[in-house]
Amino acid sequence: MIVSVASGKGGTGKTLVATSLALALESQVQFLDCDVEEPNGHIFLKPSIKHQETVSVPIPHVDERKCTFCGKCAEICAYNAIAVLPKKVLVFPELCHGCGACSYLCPEGAISEVGREIGVLEMGYSGEIEFIHGRLAIGEMMSPPIIGRVKEHIDTRKTVIIDVPPGTSCPVVEAVKGSDFCLLVTEPTPFGLNDLALAVEVLKKLSIPCGVLINRAGVGDNKVEEYCKEEGIPILLHIPLDTEIARNYSRGITLVQGMPQWNPAFQRLFRSIYEMSST
Ligand code: SF4
Ligand code: SF4
Repeated sequence: MIVSVASGKGGTGKTLVATSLALALESQVQFLDCDVEEPNGHIFLKPSIKHQETVSVPIPHVDERKCTFCGKCAEICAYNAIAVLPKKVLVFPELCHGCGACSYLCPEGAISEVGREIGVLEMGYSGEIEFIHGRLAIGEMMSPPIIGRVKEHIDTRKTVIIDVPPGTSCPVVEAVKGSDFCLLVTEPTPFGLNDLALAVEVLKKLSIPCGVLINRAGVGDNKVEEYCKEEGIPILLHIPLDTEIARNYSRGITLVQGMPQWNPAFQRLFRSIYEMSST
């Protein structure tokens, strides 16, 4: 079973929830941190890393001795990553998505591909929890290929918890697709509601069932509750604004470790998710 933990905006406590859920289950769990621009799961789970590998994307290399400067490669590139001048072809590696279309369509066979390193994958264990995360290199923008590489390691015999990047753009879709359920972490504020509604729309398009966890409950209004009721989205857990939780969070201590009384609540949360995704 694959459970994604997402949030329409950053700073909602998504990683605190995802790591607490993994720890509450403990055995036969895989934790995949797909928030590759800022992976924080390791701060809470403190895994022992056993293996590291680089992630590269193939970018075009043009042999100008074969090139006729016909411009077809630039026409096909949807990302403006290649430009053809009268006697020169320019490649912009930072914009290239490594789709291979230009090399496939070059009539002269003038384009070959070379790997460009964009980040790393690290794997290990936190107790019984199998831990995998990706890290995008500083200055890089192409997170979907690293997310895809993290997800290649999904072991469907285990319960897989995916920490999804914040927001609702391409990296979120890449991380969340294929999930059996998505837990949306939000806070009861106008910003929280706005971004929750955007995330719900993305999940509807992907046909992924979802439920909501309200973090810092009590700080704002009840508009998130009203929205969930109108949309028929279950609210699965409330976590109140609590200075002890905040203090533990700032020290990299999860909810279930710093305050073990939360353990049963996270186990019940998982049972609800399991039941909802099985119906
Ligand atoms: S498609 Fe091939 S031949 Fe045409 S400009 Fe690009 S590299 Fe040169
Ligand atoms: S590999 Fe794809 S994205 Fe990169 S330059 Fe070629 S067509 Fe553009």
